[in-house]
Amino acid sequence: MVRAFIEQGSQKENLKVLIGPHIKQCHFEIQEDTRNIFEQYSNALISRNGKWFVSLEAIIKEELMQEGFKEDQIQTDRDCTYCNDNYFSYRREHPDKPISQIAYVYQG
Ligand SMILES: [Zn+2]
Repeated sequence: MVRAFIEQGSQKENLKVLIGPHIKQCHFEIQEDTRNIFEQYSNALISRNGKWFVSLEAIIKEELMQEGFKEDQIQTDRDCTYCNDNYFSYRREHPDKPISQIAYVYQG
């Protein structure tokens, strides 16, 4: 996404990233068979009570830092969409049907 903005003429140092409300590490449990996907990220995985949980925020931040972003260019909303009933959460509504989604907003 960031590369696409830069290709369109954006200057990296002028970009700000807001990581919006999303399922957080408190509820983003993964199964053992997908753990290897997340092991490449240094802070993405935590083990709790024999289960594995993923921090999407940690993954996004790590990828942005690898692209040369600085910490102060990245903000994260504190809400977990699973914990907070004001948000839709597919996982909360359908705990037996794992699915992945992504959404973004561009403000030019
Ligand atoms: Zn939560």
